[in-house]
Order: sequence, then C-alpha cells, then structure tokens
Amino acid sequence: MGLTGIQILKKLPKTNCEECGFPTCMAFAMKVAAGQADINACPYVDPAVKEEITEASAPPVRTVKLGGGEYTYSLGGETVLFRHEKRFENPPLIGTFISTEMQEEEITRRIKLYKQLQWERVGIKLKPEVLFLQDKGNGNKLQEITQRIRNELPWVALILSSLNNDTLQKAIEICGDFKPLIYGANSQNFEEFVQLALETKVPLTIIGKSLDEVSQLSEKALQKGLKELVLDPGSQGVRELFEDLIIIRRSAIKKRFKPFGFPIITFPYRYTDSYLLETLIASITICKYASLILLSDLKAEALYNLMVERMNIYTDPQKPLVVEEGIYPVNGPDEYSPVVITCNFALTYFIVNGEIEGSRVPTWLLIKNTDGLSVLTAWAAGKFGADSIAEFVKKCGIEEKIGHRKLKIPGYLAGIKGELEDELPGWEIIVGPREASGLPSSLKKLYQEIKESAGVKEDKKVEKEVVKEVREEKKPEEKKVEKIASKEVEVKKEEKVSVESVVSSEEKKEEKVKKVKPREKKGVICIAESINIMSKKIGDAMKARDPKPIQDMAKEETELGADYLDLNIGPAKKKGAEFASWIVKVVEEVVDTPISLDTTNPEAMIAGIKASKKPEKCLINSITIQPERLEKLGPFAAEIGCDVVALLWGTEGLPRDANERAALAVELITKLNEYGIPNEKIWVDPIITPITLGAEQLNESFIFLSMLPEIAPGAKTTVGLSNVSNGVASRLRPYLNRVLLMMLMKYNIYSAIVDVYDKELIEIAKGEHPDWVALVHKMMDGDEVDPKTLSSKELEIYKTVKVLTGETIFSESWLEI
Ligand code: SF4
Repeated sequence: MGLTGIQILKKLPKTNCEECGFPTCMAFAMKVAAGQADINACPYVDPAVKEEITEASAPPVRTVKLGGGEYTYSLGGETVLFRHEKRFENPPLIGTFISTEMQEEEITRRIKLYKQLQWERVGIKLKPEVLFLQDKGNGNKLQEITQRIRNELPWVALILSSLNNDTLQKAIEICGDFKPLIYGANSQNFEEFVQLALETKVPLTIIGKSLDEVSQLSEKALQKGLKELVLDPGSQGVRELFEDLIIIRRSAIKKRFKPFGFPIITFPYRYTDSYLLETLIASITICKYASLILLSDLKAEALYNLMVERMNIYTDPQKPLVVEEGIYPVNGPDEYSPVVITCNFALTYFIVNGEIEGSRVPTWLLIKNTDGLSVLTAWAAGKFGADSIAEFVKKCGIEEKIGHRKLKIPGYLAGIKGELEDELPGWEIIVGPREASGLPSSLKKLYQEIKESAGVKEDKKVEKEVVKEVREEKKPEEKKVEKIASKEVEVKKEEKVSVESVVSSEEKKEEKVKKVKPREKKGVICIAESINIMSKKIGDAMKARDPKPIQDMAKEETELGADYLDLNIGPAKKKGAEFASWIVKVVEEVVDTPISLDTTNPEAMIAGIKASKKPEKCLINSITIQPERLEKLGPFAAEIGCDVVALLWGTEGLPRDANERAALAVELITKLNEYGIPNEKIWVDPIITPITLGAEQLNESFIFLSMLPEIAPGAKTTVGLSNVSNGVASRLRPYLNRVLLMMLMKYNIYSAIVDVYDKELIEIAKGEHPDWVALVHKMMDGDEVDPKTLSSKELEIYKTVKVLTGETIFSESWLEI
C-alpha cells in the first residue's frame, strides 16, 4: 500500500478552497490515495511535495503507454503479486513479428492474420494488438513496413527493433502521435538509445544478459530521466525465464525496487521449436507476469485460447463475471424435465450447472439476469424478487418446452414462494436446497414425480440412485466435525432455541401485558438480525401480516441482549410503505428496543420510521452514495434526527481497499453532513466480506477502521458480522463470527448486526471474556503465542485468528488442522 489519505492530507494546505474540484482537502486527499484523483489538481502543493506524493502513490510497476487515440494501450501499472489480492490491471499485448528479411508474401500473410484472427466473446473483442518489427539491416524496408502497418492495421501497437539509430528515428517519425516502443538499449548502445528515447519521448526497452545487467541499465536510464521503460531480462532458458519474471515482479511489489518496477517483454519462441510448447510458455507468462508476449507466428487455435485465458486472468475478481440470460438445456431435457432457476452470476451458474450435469437428470436451467449479483444480494437489490422472476419465466419461452408447471427456486429464496405463486398462476413453486450440492437428489425425485403425474413409467434406476444418495448425504467426516462442534455451537432461531427455558411461566403471563425492556447498554451495541423476511417462519408471518411470530421473536431477541432490532423487510416493492409501518408498530407493541429498519426501498423506510413511536431513536439501515436513496433518506434522517448506517457501497460496488473505502466514506459523510446529520449520528459500515473470498478484504476493513477517527471524528461504526461466515457450513459459522468480533473490538467497533441467539457471541460483545479478547489482540499485534500453552477453547480461537488474518488459508477443516 502506498500513502494513505491521512498521510497525504498532512501534506496539503487544508484551506478547503475547492479549486481541485473537491469540497475539502480531506476529500481530495482520500481520492488521491485511492488513485481516483491527481495530486497536480491542487495548485497550492509545493512541487517537491507533489513529486514525493506522486512517487509514493505511483503503482510499484509503472504504467507505460503505447499507441495513441482510441488505440492507446497501457502496460504494467500493477500493484499486487496475486490477482485475488486486488486485481491485475493491464492485460499483456499478444502478437508476432515481421522482419525485413521476410518475403513480401510472408509479410502479407502475417498482416492478413491480424485482420482475420478476431473473435467476439461476451461482448469483448479478442484480437492480436502488437507487432514486433525487426530490422535485419534494411532500414528502408523497415520504414516501408512501418508505414504499411500503420495504414492497414491502425489498432496494432508497434515495437521497433533496429541496431541503427537513424532507421529507428525515421520509423518513429512515421508513427507520428502513435507511440511505438524502441527495442532496445543494451550495454553497447545504451547512451545512444537513451538519447533517442529522450528526444522522441517514446518508451525504451532495456535488454540485459542477466537480471544484474537489466537492473544496472534500468537504474542508469532512470537517472537520465527516462520514466517509461520495458524490461527484457534476456533469460536463457524456460526455467530462468519464470524465475526472472517472478523476481522482477516480487522486487517491484514487495521491495519497491525501482529499477525492476516496469513492464516486461517476453519471446516464448526463443526457448523451443515446438509451437505447442511455445504456446504453453506464453500461457504461463500471461499469469506471471509478462506485459508483451511475442509469438513466432499467429495460429487461431493458440491465439484464441491465450486470449480467453488473458481475459479470465485480467477480469476484476470483485466484479462478477456474468452469463447470458436465457434457457440452458442440461442433460438433454424434455417436456417432463424439472425447471430450475438461478441468477446470472457466473460462479453460481457454473456450480449449479455442474451439479445438474453430475446428477444426469435432464433439466431446464433458467438463468435470470441479475447484473452478476448472487442470489441473496440480487434479491436484496430488487433484481431477483417474485415480480422480476415471474416476468422472466413468462417471457423466456419455457412454458412451450414443458408439459408441467413446476419451478424450483434457490433455497435462499424460500421467503418469496407464496408471492411467486401469486405472480405465476398455475405454477407450483418448489423451494430447492440452499446449497447447489443438494440439487442432484432433489432433482431426481422431482423428475420422477413429474413423470409419474404425467403417467410416464418410472425410471427405477434413477429412483435407486436417489435413495442411495439421500442415505449417503451425511458423510462420516461431517458427522465427526459436528460432534466436535456441537458442544460449543449455540443453535439458533425459531426452531432451535426455546427462550421459554429462561423465562418462567409467571413471567410469561406478564409478557402479555408488559413490554420487554432492553438490557442496559454496555460493550458493543448488538443489532439483532433475525427478524428477516428471508426466514421461513418470519417471512410467512410478514406476508400474512401475522404479528405473533414477529412479536415473539422481538421479545426473545430483547431478552437475549439485543440493543436494537433489525427489521429486514427486503426490497419491499409491493405495498412497501404499508408493510414497513405495520411491522414497526407490531414490534413496538411488545418491546421498547429501538428499531433498525432494513430495506432498500426509501419510501418504505420513510413510512416505517414515521410509524415509530420514537422515530428519533430509530436507525436507518442503510444509506449509500447512490442518489436514489441518498437524496430521499438524507434530508429525511436530518429532519427526524435519527441515526443512519452509512454503507460503503460505491457506484461501482464494493470498494477494493482501505483507501477506496476512505474516499467513499468522506464523500458519503460529507453529503450526510450537508443534509445536517452530524458525525455522531452516522454509523459507518465498511462492509465485511466472506472469509471464503480471502482475508485481504477483512484486513483492508481493519485499516479503514483505524483511519476513520481522523476522517470523521465522532462517527460510529457498525458491521454485518455474519457476512464473514456466509457460505460456510452453519455449524462452523459462530466460530468465525465470534473471533471476528473480538478482532473488530481492537478497532473500537461501536456496533454489529449479530445473531443474538449465539449466547457466547453476546457475552463477548458485552465484555464478559476479556481474556479471549486479550489473546486475539496479542496475536493481532504480532506477539508470539505458543499454541501448546493454550486451552482447547483458546486453541480454537488461535486457529480462527490465523484464518481471519490470512496466515492460514481458509478451509472448513481449519479447526481440525
Ligand atoms: Fe485543498 Fe488544494 Fe483542493 Fe484547495 S485545491 S481544497 S487547498 S487540496
């Protein structure tokens, strides 16, 4: 990580003159740190300080630009070693070479290949974009070819190679504003070539016979003022090539070694005569870490695969890949085949499709466009609700392909079953498993049922497989883990916890007339998460406007230590205002616990808060920077005087690191302040991501939390704690939730949305386990802890800290290792 926004802010004049286009120096500093603004936009920073900030904020692998206009290509600009840490920025350019020794036919053939070998995949054009022009002692010919390429292949970036400086100079002139790369400066021609690069202002390749030589020449070039370099380490063999590529990138990223902080050019054909092997070498250099890849020739079968690989490696891992909306036939479906629907997040599609394929059940898989959001997120965002699913089912054409009307929906959407049946008259909605792994057995059963009801003879073989699978569903190793976990895990919610055991019958009688009072507040404020439309029992009660199950749960949650009750009514698209007002009133009839109203529908939010007896005590969960919510809820919250959750969900989704979170926080908090909401009423949520996505984002949230007191003094904080264990087996989730809470306590987390049925978690939140918290903080400080000295409980915490800090790679067996 370069400089943080706070470090940059300290170097700014702090006059808030707005000349940079930002309302405050703070906002500007955060944007500069996040790479979203240029320090030069502030005219009042001393040039030396500007230079210092530019240097410190620059990516460790510098960006080098080739081409021009609409065909400008960026090389390098990389900030990480591994794609999952953030993303790889600029994909390598792939192409081949043309030499002045080649016959005219061969040159024409190669130019033709550039025109022919182009494909479109998921809306992206794949084509070769770079050409290495090699002068073999015929300068005029090089200039002639350069002109021809510029005329015929205007999108192709050029690398000009010659030993003759004059030849290069003329070829560069032909390119005009379309910047080529000079290949290249070695120990013999160094001064001459550096001079040419300085005069023509085009990037220069540094060629060495070893890494040492590359490093020395690169350093000298830097001293002479060249900032756009490309490195050719001159590796002698394949192994050396990979070692060199990794050493260069590691030195640049980890050590900030400037001579190696540049893009790298590779020539896979130097190491083999086999085109297949050459392609394999190229495919590895796409992952690690070439920016220019020159092949001996262009062949469709190699080029296409290399480009698809490049596309996959260089997609942003935080921006979901999507598949097209439509009907996907799996295993040759017919009119009796089950119909399954899911979202168009590519990962979900591949998992669901894989399970269906493995089941061998002929199935129609419906993929609904949810903008790449996963099932629950899409539902919460209003993109996968009953109305939109029904609309898609009606228009997609599935009704003509089948003779039944049964639709299997994801288990997480159980709550919309009734609503969907209303929207799709004549259809039976079947709630599928929560995890795709449960699909095969349920599909086989469903297939049999559909065929039986249509009078089609049973398939005994499939039926037998179903029975066998159902028997095998619980694997022995799962049972073992369950046994270990069962003593510690507090099972939760409606079916599993009986609060009756803690409430005497006398007290129960009193409940009918007396409200349950919230406990005295201490420790981390606990916002209970269980009154949620996605819970089957509560969801049904909400839809039926049946207050009892909701009121029972509100009382239970208050008894268990809730300081706020989160009422999650989802997108509440239909009758949202009426629904929100109803539920707020229903809950306030039985408890005094403040309400956190959770919906993405601003009208419903406003109606719900207005319906409260004490609207000023409510919490709006949440406001984001999106104008449609911000502009309605901001002024309303200011007028009512209630608290708001400021959710750091940007216009492009989740911020990628601490600096992006900080930039977004400043923007959102500034807007909320402008509406008249003071910092003390703003609860900033940095967004906790599941550990299954890696620990890096958790660490970025921690860094952000440590910056927040300086960004917005007095602002409070909150997190959706259970997010960290999303997608993890339910028996294991409490371990992660509890330890994360202890880690967040190091950053003085003010509140958390939690499962209050986890007794131990609430004890931790209320400060009843200071010894465990001390152990966690000791580990976070990097102090040595000898696991042999720990009790079994402490060992469990120790192992979980290691997972959440990324020291141990997460797997569901982390407690057993
Ligand atoms: Fe601050 Fe400079 Fe922007 Fe003025 S122009 S607000 S001094 S950063």
